Amino acid sequence: ALHQVPDISVPRYVRVNTLKLDVDSALLELQKKYSVQKDNLLPDLLILPPGTDLHDHPLVKNGSIFLQGKASSMAAPALSPEPGWEVLDACAAPGNKTVHLAALMKRKGKIIACELQKERIKRLKDTIKLSGASNIQVLNDDFLNLNPKDPSYSKVKAILLDPSCSGSGTAASRLDHLLPSKAAGQDADMERLNKLATFQRKALQHALLFPAVERIVYSTCSINQIENEDVIKSVLPIAESNGFQLAKPFPGWECRGLPVFEGSECLVRTDPAKHGEGFFIALFTRKDANFSGRS
Ligand code: SAM
Repeated sequence: ALHQVPDISVPRYVRVNTLKLDVDSALLELQKKYSVQKDNLLPDLLILPPGTDLHDHPLVKNGSIFLQGKASSMAAPALSPEPGWEVLDACAAPGNKTVHLAALMKRKGKIIACELQKERIKRLKDTIKLSGASNIQVLNDDFLNLNPKDPSYSKVKAILLDPSCSGSGTAASRLDHLLPSKAAGQDADMERLNKLATFQRKALQHALLFPAVERIVYSTCSINQIENEDVIKSVLPIAESNGFQLAKPFPGWECRGLPVFEGSECLVRTDPAKHGEGFFIALFTRKDANFSGRS
């Protein structure tokens, strides 16, 4: 029952799918029934009163707007792929960020959406269909198995890596931890976190190997340092030796990474209490494609 409690402390955000509708038209349509504002950070995001239930709204049903929180709507803009680029979404299902990337790319270029789990491919394809995007290729594969040297990926300029995580930043998960039955499971929790972090590190290191990549976003909906700052800290030296550096997306955003290494102020965190969900974003950039090593 705890899961059903609507979070009434934070606004309801909706992302306008600009492939189908422009932001001002969405604003006008929603204003017929609700009090709506534009978000001051993300131009395609609208803010409605907390608890607004839009699940059955025609604009949601026809893919003109997506029910997506502010924090998770920050990942694709942090990557900010240019129209015309080739982009790889490494862990794509259910595809909310995939189609956000497609909107930012204005139908130009190509997105490869990779997803390991066969059962989740249908959801991914449904999201893509609903979005109206036609330049997304779905790949049912393990991202770690994609060969970065394969010519199919030789033009990939940006990678979004939003790997499986504990989800500890989401509202359901935070309520879950209030349950008394959860207190005993700490060892199992730690083991699960370590496993996730190992995969997250591997996946990030793999992303660094694609020869033409200039931008990589690593994001989670976790609040755990082990899945966030620790992953970045351990991979940073390898990233740097591949010509990447940490960049600072949303420089005006106040909530940054935990200060556990030099440069962690580049990282973006969101605060569950303030922003509705706990989210983490790191952005790596590299100037010259086909970087061939430093020394
Ligand atoms: N980016 C998605 C969105 O915004 O809708 C959410 C991605 S979810 C956090 C992580 C996804 O990665 C899951 O669907 C999971 O099945 C998939 N995944 C896990 N390991 C993977 C791997 N090795 N290769 C590709 N996908 C993987």
